[in-house]
This record gives sequence, C-alpha cells and structure tokens, in this order.
Amino acid sequence: MDGTDQSPANLILLGPPGAGKGTQARRLEDTFGLVQLSTGDLLRAAVAAGTEAGKQAKAVMEAGELVSDEIVIAILRDRLSEDDCASGVILDGFPRTTVQAEALDALMFDMDQSIRAAISLEVEDAAMVERISGRFTCGKCGEGYHDMFKTPAVEGVCDKCGSTDMKRRADDNAETVASRLSAYHAQTAPLIDYYDGKGVLARVDAMADIDVVARDLNTVVRQATA
Ligand code: AMP
Repeated sequence: MDGTDQSPANLILLGPPGAGKGTQARRLEDTFGLVQLSTGDLLRAAVAAGTEAGKQAKAVMEAGELVSDEIVIAILRDRLSEDDCASGVILDGFPRTTVQAEALDALMFDMDQSIRAAISLEVEDAAMVERISGRFTCGKCGEGYHDMFKTPAVEGVCDKCGSTDMKRRADDNAETVASRLSAYHAQTAPLIDYYDGKGVLARVDAMADIDVVARDLNTVVRQATA
C-alpha cells in the first residue's frame, strides 16, 4: 500500500449474507478492472453442473450451513489459477473460516502475491432478512435487483441486458437466512480480527444506500491499490 507495489490487487469483501458483497463486488469489477470471485456462485455452478463437489455441497447450501473447507478451497484454488485472475481479484464470500483464511495465505504465498485489503461491510442483523428475502438476479448477466430497494425500470426486464430470465436463490428464504447468519457469526466474523491483526482491515458502513456504500468502497480500494 505504499504506492510501489506492482503485484495484483487482491481484495476480500467480508460481511454477513445480504451485506451487499455481490452487488458491490460487481461494481468494483467495473471500476477497477478486477475479477469477482464468488465461492457461492462457483458452488451454485457446481451444483447445476452435477459435479461431485456440487453433489456434496447441495444439501449443505440448502440448509444454510457452510460447505466443507476442503471442497471450497479446492474450487477457489482452481479458479484463482485461471489467467483472468492475474491482475487481481475481489473475493466475495471467501474466506469464511479461519482454515480457509490460512489456506488463502498459503496460496498467496505460493503465487508471490498478497491480500491488499480485507473490507468488512458492516450491517445490522435486523436488516438482513428483509434484504435477502426480496432479492433476485438476472439469470443472463447476473445483475442484482430487490423488490423494495432496486426494481428494474420495466417490471421483469433486466435494465442491463434486456433479459426476462429473473432468478431467485433457493436459499434466500427466512428460515435458511437465520442459519446463514448464525454460521456467519460463529465462523466468519472472527476473520475481522484475523485481518485486523495483519494490518489490512478496512470497515465500511453498509447500512447506507447502495451508491453511498459504493462511493465509500471506491475510496478504500483506491487507497489499497495505489
Ligand atoms: P453466498 O452466495 O456467498 O451467500 O453462499 C451461498 C452458500 O454457499 C453459503 O450459505 C454456503 O453454504 C456456501 N458457501 C459459499 N461460500 C462458502 C465458503 N467460503 N465456505 C463454505 N461455504 C460456502
């Protein structure tokens, strides 16, 4: 972060489900030319493709629990080795446990890279159920929407690509959200201290409007990637 670091600008977005990690990661991709790496998306693709990892992950994801470290680390490692990740990634939903964070450190070391910033999106639990249960995504381009906070200009039609193929996630229901939130507090929230201890933690208030959060994040990322 001293202005001389030419290595890839790898970032982590930390925060509970519904904090806006996916939405903000997509914006950071556009603004900074980084690649969003969402382990949730990679796992959903594995489930849809019916791979061995996908078969093992499916029921765990439906219950709102965490998929095994072994599976997630293997999926992440494979994706990270692809060429498009060479100029830097935004990790969205990974790491979620201390074991994953340590595996990421080892991967970074092997690649002679580092994590420039771990950004904690700070939100109140009470807002999460409402945020998550109203959300949907364009199945074609991945743009995210919400029944209350961000509706398409024309109902049912994606603003970005015009597709009418809108999708809701199977695990975005009140019951599963409660499990996902408790998994977050028990297993992922301790990573805030982990990255604070490494001197790379930044905190952003994610209760604000999407554009305000995006502006604050841009400031943090600009400093971290300078
Ligand atoms: P997300 O799309 O990040 O909300 O993730 C959806 C679900 O995928 C989670 O509730 C977990 O079951 C699983 N998952 C995603 N990322 C991870 C991870 N890093 N470790 C374990 N499970 C994960």
